[in-house]
Amino acid sequence: MFPKLSIKYDKLVNNALVIKTMCDKMGIEVSGVTKVFCGEPKIAMGLLEAGISILADSRIENLIKLQDLSCSKMLLRIPMLSQVDEVVKYADISLNSEISVISALDKATKKLEKIHKIILMIDLGDLREGFFYKEFFKELPQILRFKNIEILGIGTNLTCYGGVIPDKDNLGMLVEISKKIKNHYGLNIKLISGGNSSSLYLVEQENIPFGITNLRIGEAIVLGRETAFGEKITNCFDDIFLLQAEIIEIKYKPSLPIGNIGMDAFGNKPSFQDKGMRKRAIVAIGRQDVNYRDIMPINKNVHILGGSSDHLILDLTESIEEYNVGDIVKFKLNYGGLLSLMTSEYVNKQIE
Ligand SMILES: *Cc1c(COP(=O)(O)O)cnc(C)c1O
Repeated sequence: MFPKLSIKYDKLVNNALVIKTMCDKMGIEVSGVTKVFCGEPKIAMGLLEAGISILADSRIENLIKLQDLSCSKMLLRIPMLSQVDEVVKYADISLNSEISVISALDKATKKLEKIHKIILMIDLGDLREGFFYKEFFKELPQILRFKNIEILGIGTNLTCYGGVIPDKDNLGMLVEISKKIKNHYGLNIKLISGGNSSSLYLVEQENIPFGITNLRIGEAIVLGRETAFGEKITNCFDDIFLLQAEIIEIKYKPSLPIGNIGMDAFGNKPSFQDKGMRKRAIVAIGRQDVNYRDIMPINKNVHILGGSSDHLILDLTESIEEYNVGDIVKFKLNYGGLLSLMTSEYVNKQIE
């Protein structure tokens, strides 16, 4: 059934293994991030097969899907107050930045008679989640008093909102903060989580500050690239996930629409370049599945002209390969493309 997202399991295990090995060498444990594939357990198994022992996801729904896999589960998005009961039930570890939430987690944990582990997030300047680094020590004493909460670690998130690149200064500051916690409170911080796939370039260069013990890695494993500069990672595949969609029309048409131009299906006023008559194909996939800007035809001579909710329009004029109605066109994906295709219920996912 098409559209189909094919998933090469062995290639995924390869990428996870390459990245895990690279991190092992620097004394860093990898939390394998499963959110881009919606926490699908059959895919997550590939990360465990590579030896990863913590799975991390931003949504509790996905951790619930993963509950039967034997590994630690980490909740990446700071919890909603309304979800603390599910959080302590399905996550062993959660990332946190609000005292009221930690307090609610403490109460929820007590009911279950267990201990919930937390990583305190510190905002080092990217301005997404975390205690702002200048305020952190004012708030810490209040967090130390919760009996059913173990402060397992501290962490930071970079290159998400502000585009701040991890470096020796900001990650060094995280390590310094852990030392200060130890000196002032005698608390041993076991896990220092130095970010996501954008921190990997520092591992590749063997430049990551000593003391960082964990990274939370998603994109680098699934797409084979680090995300500070978008460079390919040596020995990793960038085609684990491929989109395959079916051609439903092929016709020669002009490149300029005929008539007065108003708005397109998404309320934008389109503009066109006159290239004369072109050989065009309509492919049965649309914005309900993926934004066409997030997919790249594998055939370099096929160009995406545009699309609407259910139709993708291609220019086949320059293609040497012949296409017919019923043929399948293949695409590579960027992160956003993979995320929305995995999320679309209209896309058939096939692990191969
Ligand atoms: C998504 C996420 C990650 C993983 O990011 P990648 O760029 O996919 O490696 C790590 N940490 C947090 C808090 C996240 O939300």
